[in-house]
Amino acid sequence: MNHFEFREGELHCEDVPLSRIAEAVGTPVYVYSSATLERHFLVLAEAMARAGLKGEEGGPVLIAYAVKANPNLSVLATLARLGAGADTVSEGEIRRALAAGVPATRIVFSGVGKQAGEIAFALDAGISEINVESEPEMRLVSQVAQRVGRPARIAFRVNPDVVAGGHAKISTGGAEDKFGVSFSEAERLYAEAGSDPWLEPMGLTCHIGSQISALAPMEAAFRRMRELVERLRARGLSVRRLDLGGGLGVPYFNQPEPPSPADYAAMVARVTDGLGIGLAFEPGRLIAANAGVLLAQVLHIHERPEGRRFVVLDAAMNDLIRPAMYDAYHDLRPVHPRTGALSAFDVVGPVCETSDTFTRDRDLPPLEAGDLVAFMSAGAYGASMASEYNSRLLVPEVLVRGSNWALVRPRPTYEDMLSREAMPPWLD
Ligand SMILES: *Cc1c(COP(=O)(O)O)cnc(C)c1O
Repeated sequence: MNHFEFREGELHCEDVPLSRIAEAVGTPVYVYSSATLERHFLVLAEAMARAGLKGEEGGPVLIAYAVKANPNLSVLATLARLGAGADTVSEGEIRRALAAGVPATRIVFSGVGKQAGEIAFALDAGISEINVESEPEMRLVSQVAQRVGRPARIAFRVNPDVVAGGHAKISTGGAEDKFGVSFSEAERLYAEAGSDPWLEPMGLTCHIGSQISALAPMEAAFRRMRELVERLRARGLSVRRLDLGGGLGVPYFNQPEPPSPADYAAMVARVTDGLGIGLAFEPGRLIAANAGVLLAQVLHIHERPEGRRFVVLDAAMNDLIRPAMYDAYHDLRPVHPRTGALSAFDVVGPVCETSDTFTRDRDLPPLEAGDLVAFMSAGAYGASMASEYNSRLLVPEVLVRGSNWALVRPRPTYEDMLSREAMPPWLD
């Protein structure tokens, strides 16, 4: 469920008509709903509590929102107030999470290529867990921990060799993928880390892919993770946390219906029954995707004599790259739908690439130049992947709460864009 609805013929975000934001800020612009962000977090947290899932020391599970899905500070702060943690993949994301009020004790640091400086920063900040993805990385974390004089709480990211995810580019849990260590490596490294005074191995983690629409591959992966916990414990090693990653799919319009948070939580409860371990999760898309839209304006309707019809928008692949990169489907809704029969359009942006095509042959109601349209389900991996390709200004972001709204990332000016660069002395 989300808070983007038609009222009196116009698409609203909560109580704010989208045309009001377009008038004030211009287009393209991302618009996020606070109520939807909160609802998605709370539905998940409640489903987990109801299924009896526990965090460390019997407290609530750690829901570490995957910052990369939507790192806007106001989005992070909205979730932090509900008790969310943060799953981060860079020093920049750790800094964002801290700046938005996420306590360090709820921050997890993932990623296959953490650098020494980033690890030192994470240890100084006192974050909850560093997810170690390889043997050389384990050695680096130990060296850095010794240098800063703080032992590192680590979890090993295990690659469960289960392929899942909505697209090959977002599947991460196969043996061919770059992420994590194998089960046998995990067992060896965990024991080794246990005898390193600068490492405190406290758990295991896995993340097998994104936009996963079936429970079975997750359940298979989680069962294998449980077996590993049991093998490590049988060797006398302490395993206190099992971080099961993110990846649960969201109901994108006209895509297979993903499992509900309740069914997901029940599955996790089944798999971890009696294990007595603190659980953590790293959802990104599930929280943010349907909490945002990309609002754009129709520039032209361009009809080819041979029949193809193009809707040219002022939004482009640099603002929303998911269709070009992952063949992603985004529902497209006119903000003030005109009456009339549906007909097929190709929807494109102004960037000089054929891949700057949001969709082909999409049946849409009548559209005219000047109409506003909204790409739905654009709150995750939308603004966070936006660029200034073609020297188009970075897309701004707005957060709505009830009848209030605020510009939470303004559109830069052209002066801002140019002032980030410098001429070498020989050209100055
Ligand atoms: C991207 C990522 C997530 C979040 O994935 P979603 O599909 O958005 O839930 C969680 N954990 C890790 C390690 C990731 O890389």
